Amino acid sequence: MEDVDAAKNQEQPKLLDGNELVYLGNGWRATGGTHGWRMSPGIYFKCVRCGYLMSAESTEQTDFCFCGTMSKDADAGRFGSVLGDDRIEVYRTAPKRQSESGAR
Ligand SMILES: [Zn+2]
Repeated sequence: MEDVDAAKNQEQPKLLDGNELVYLGNGWRATGGTHGWRMSPGIYFKCVRCGYLMSAESTEQTDFCFCGTMSKDADAGRFGSVLGDDRIEVYRTAPKRQSESGAR
């Protein structure tokens, strides 16, 4: 399991490096779903405890955050947090703007 965690640890900064995260809200309603979590590429769920960002791109891959609060169970088709849906932060990635100054 340590190898998996190490790989996940490396993924996180890469994600933040190349993308800007736009906060959409808390809970499944923030994903635009009408009756549950809507999984789609570019959407990430953040654990409020450990800060792990989980991709919503695939529902076919079981994933856990570092502290185990937030989990995605591919076999059961479930996703959630032991703290409750409202304790999951939803983000959308947007390409990072290259220039901070805005000068051309
Ligand atoms: Zn966590």
